[in-house]
Amino acid sequence: MLSRRSILAIATLLVLTVAVAAVIIGSATQESAFAYTQDPYHPDHRVDVEHYTFRLELSDESDEIAGRASVDIAFRESGVDTVRLDLVGMTVSDVTVSDAAATDPTNENNRNSATSDNARAVAFDHQDGVLIVPLERTARKGERLRIDVTYAGVPEDGLIISQNKHGARTFFGDNWPNRARHWLPTVDHVSEKATVAFEVTAPNHYQVIATGELVEEVGVDETRRLSRFKGSVPIPPKVMVIGVARFAVEESGVVEGVPISSWVYPEDRENGFREYARAVQVVEYFIDQIGPFPYAKLGNVQSTTRYGGMENAGNIFYSENSVSGTGASEGLIAHEIAHQWFGDSVTEADWYHIWLSEGFATYFTQLYMEHTYGRERMNTGLAAQRTAIIRYHQRNPDSPVIDTTIVDLNDLLSTNSYQKGGWVLHMLRQQVGTADFWEGIRAYYERHRDGNALTGDLQDAMEDASGQDLGWFFDQWLRRAGQPQIDVTWSNAEDGGVSVLVRQLQDSEPFRFPLDISFAHEDSTSEPVTVTLDVTQKQQTFQVDPGVQAATAELDPNVWLLMEGDISYSGRR
Ligand SMILES: [Zn+2]
Repeated sequence: MLSRRSILAIATLLVLTVAVAAVIIGSATQESAFAYTQDPYHPDHRVDVEHYTFRLELSDESDEIAGRASVDIAFRESGVDTVRLDLVGMTVSDVTVSDAAATDPTNENNRNSATSDNARAVAFDHQDGVLIVPLERTARKGERLRIDVTYAGVPEDGLIISQNKHGARTFFGDNWPNRARHWLPTVDHVSEKATVAFEVTAPNHYQVIATGELVEEVGVDETRRLSRFKGSVPIPPKVMVIGVARFAVEESGVVEGVPISSWVYPEDRENGFREYARAVQVVEYFIDQIGPFPYAKLGNVQSTTRYGGMENAGNIFYSENSVSGTGASEGLIAHEIAHQWFGDSVTEADWYHIWLSEGFATYFTQLYMEHTYGRERMNTGLAAQRTAIIRYHQRNPDSPVIDTTIVDLNDLLSTNSYQKGGWVLHMLRQQVGTADFWEGIRAYYERHRDGNALTGDLQDAMEDASGQDLGWFFDQWLRRAGQPQIDVTWSNAEDGGVSVLVRQLQDSEPFRFPLDISFAHEDSTSEPVTVTLDVTQKQQTFQVDPGVQAATAELDPNVWLLMEGDISYSGRR
């Protein structure tokens, strides 16, 4: 007998075997725990990257970087004799493999040592962005080793070396979704999380920020400084970065021991500090609601990211135009900060579940707005998003939120992943109630913190919190395209109640949802009364008693339902 999720896993595996066999290495031994991974790039899950140390030298003379990466690996299975790393466009000069004794990741000296005593050079193969490292023997399950890669080149992508809007030279990592490989030898997949240390040598007129805590800054010579950062929790390569520029830096506050700082271009100092200081309130709210902040610090950094903002772990990179001084970036700041919990700490195990990042960040922005400015503010935002979702659906009628037909990862950044994903959380909140919603969210974070999750993991947490079976809900809103299209007519009944006819007009099978309708008396000074109908069929008639002599009716007055709908009076007046 198979569980529901196993059945799904088998169905999706059949699809992907056809689509994407070309890039799979070691797929024959993929563990069942990872068998549901659907997207095209399959890391070899016999190999677990535990830690990266990236040593990078930057200069003003050219855009060439010199790097040496130590990749600390543990083997989940015996029998591995080569390790695949992703590295595009760089020239590799040397690869060595060191055995376990030198690479115990719990040994700080080993982790930081420049070379290992037993390192042996190996005949690597580097083609088409793939670095194959032969171990020259077969690794045993549980064994650890270190691969050191020495490389250099001008990054074509990933590390963006350019000029900012003030004409100053800057260096910013910008890895999403799989561009870390242009400057960092990695297993560049969202499910392969590891701790990371950066050791950056740069001209000493720059400030350097990077993932992790700053552990040392030291002058190397007259003109250069080494900055060492060390992260202590595993994160995916998409959010491992450095930022090197002339910055003005200010500490905006400390929340629950987490220092929150602003890093802005000196020209934007005043506006930037004011704008980014809002992060303190946002972090306070999310810690209260979700649980502890996952990282040792939060830097809010003005940068040249191609996105409006990029949720790099512990140091968010915002677009350079995010600094206006008007407070217009508040929603952006809330979105990227929400990602620290969802996307960075609890990371989708599979790209097709990206709504667990983007839908969360989108809805948590609305939750922050509700908390800060009231329900009306959130409702306005949700109503606008609903319009966008319906429009997107008209153009993409067959595309559900979890859309395994997407080939280009950039296409995942859609209205479905963001706005509809956010709306699904909103409807989930109505389905289970606000208290159970937060209990489920907290459990989901606690269980998957610093790890990976799929949609089923969220469902489990929400079912545990609410005691409800939510399979139908997750299937309907995430694996099925579209939303109900409803037409409601109502009339006053003889007995003083109201008769309501609800019809679902979409071609497909009925959706199941609670539908709020508020009825109001002619006298506009009396409060409207809201009734909730449990809609499950294509056509249903309800007799309700709103307790007022109804003169007007409004569909979904509190903005809880993703639908297109109309309501009209059908009876005699
Ligand atoms: Zn986002």
